[in-house]
Amino acid sequence: MWLDFSMFLVLLGLFFYVFAVGSITVLHKIYLVLHLILIVWPLTQFIAQTMPGSSYRLFYLSASYASLSLIGVGWFIFVVFLTGQANVIRARRIMMLALPALISVVCVLWNPNELFLSINEHLGVKQQQSGPLFWYMIVQLFTYILVSLIVMGYSIRRGGSVRQQMLVKTAMNGIFVLVLFGLGDFLVNIIFIHYFSSYFSIFSVGITLSAVYLVHAITRHRVFDIIQIVQRDVMNTISTGIIVLDESGTVLEFNKAMKSILKLRIGEKFTPYALTVHFPNHIKKEFDEFLEEQGKRPMERQELEVALLSDGHYRFIIVQSAPILSQKKKELLGRLLTFHDVTELRMLVEETNSQNELLQERNNELLIMQDELFQANKMLEHMAITDGLTGCYNRRYLLQQLEHEVAVNVQHGIPFSIFLFDIDLFKSINDKHGHLVGDEVICATVDAVRSTLRAADILARYGGEEFTVYLPHTNREQADIIADRVKESVEQNEVKTGHGSQTVNVTISMGVVSVEQFDQRALDNPKAFLKELLAQADAALYEAKYSGRNRIVKRKLA
Ligand code: GH3
Ligand code: MG
Ligand code: MG
Repeated sequence: MWLDFSMFLVLLGLFFYVFAVGSITVLHKIYLVLHLILIVWPLTQFIAQTMPGSSYRLFYLSASYASLSLIGVGWFIFVVFLTGQANVIRARRIMMLALPALISVVCVLWNPNELFLSINEHLGVKQQQSGPLFWYMIVQLFTYILVSLIVMGYSIRRGGSVRQQMLVKTAMNGIFVLVLFGLGDFLVNIIFIHYFSSYFSIFSVGITLSAVYLVHAITRHRVFDIIQIVQRDVMNTISTGIIVLDESGTVLEFNKAMKSILKLRIGEKFTPYALTVHFPNHIKKEFDEFLEEQGKRPMERQELEVALLSDGHYRFIIVQSAPILSQKKKELLGRLLTFHDVTELRMLVEETNSQNELLQERNNELLIMQDELFQANKMLEHMAITDGLTGCYNRRYLLQQLEHEVAVNVQHGIPFSIFLFDIDLFKSINDKHGHLVGDEVICATVDAVRSTLRAADILARYGGEEFTVYLPHTNREQADIIADRVKESVEQNEVKTGHGSQTVNVTISMGVVSVEQFDQRALDNPKAFLKELLAQADAALYEAKYSGRNRIVKRKLA
């Protein structure tokens, strides 16, 4: 009797202890409800035995059996949460599953026609007589316990982290103790009630022992610790493979991602060859070097990227090895190996790189094209303003330039001069030596003229073998000197004909027009003024030809 009471006190103490330590998780709450149900048994057993009247006794016994009825389902729900299957079981389903236990509670409290329990006053302490509803309670109890055991067995077989397996095993041991003592109680106090002289509180002791064991496990291993539960869940849901090794390289723990590719079991020595992936020889070597290096410098983090062939495809894995150090002394406790699949990332980078390369290539092609266009443009521009044979400016360019220059010169009173010269009797050179030699003579004459001109002077082909020179900032005096120089240079220029040492000499006739004084009226129509200038030059040239060729006729325009 007093044993029941002391068991109640122990259970109550444990209840407050669990409340006092650690953070409260759902699992804690469920365990505490179970614990409360367990507490009711020894308390009511104790009260029932201290009650003198049979009706009171029956009431308290009923209360204790009501709590007993709930123990099975309580354990079942606890196990469901413990094995991480809470998501499968919704509130409505739990109510359905708890129905047999609830019926049992109703039967116990109602006790119709004493079908559950009757008290025989004459038998004293061994007062109970059990009816068919009592047996219903026993059956539902064992069914729940059996289902709980099946759920736990399934959870152990399915695997999971070592920690979860330990949790389930702890619960199994608790149930085992409970069932063992429950059976003992059942045999001693119910089946063989007549062989024993007094009532033994075997089940109370069983309940208390299993509760003590569970509370010990909860506090010692912190099995319900919310952080650890989260850590375990995170570890098992991430795709990175994780292996925890102790300082001698023995596997302590690995996560779900590692499970399918690691042939090792906990407690065995780690070797990369225990991974069920194909290792080409060079990777084996790399891995060996990696482990060797890790052995040499155990306090450092190491990283290795390997390309492994799996199902005909290469997968890029980054293997990292980091030391696990003790918090206080920073001593090496072990190593954390992680295997991170970066194939998608690598492929993305590669694709971006190749796209970048393509873009770069296109860009280069465009740059080359742009350069070609620029060169072509430049050539077109050059072709548009120069003469193809001699390379000097053409008539169009000269007239364009002159229109502008003349206007500026007139406006600012800047003197300038214009030469117009023509090769003498050129037809006869063509006739005598042919057109090709004629061409060469034209070119050689241009070269001879150009060599005597200044950089700012503009030499242009006016037509056939007739040329114009515009001499900016040049008054009559200077123009006369330059004109003489040009004429002389041409005269002395000996052009090779291509037939042996035979050379050709040509002379030129030239009209020179210099502008030193300015009529501002010219500004009103610069084009007409220019036309007039050129007509003057032409007239001078004509005069030079007419008066015998190889001479210069000068005109000064007022
Ligand atoms: P002059 O000027 O002294 O009165 O006598 P000319 O024989 O030079 O007569 P003109 O200037 O009228 O004749 C020019 C000739 O030059 C006509 C043409 O056949 C020739 N000619 C014009 N352009 C070229 C050319 O580009 N190449 C060659 N080979 N001959 C040309
Ligand atoms: Mg001529
Ligand atoms: Mg001519």
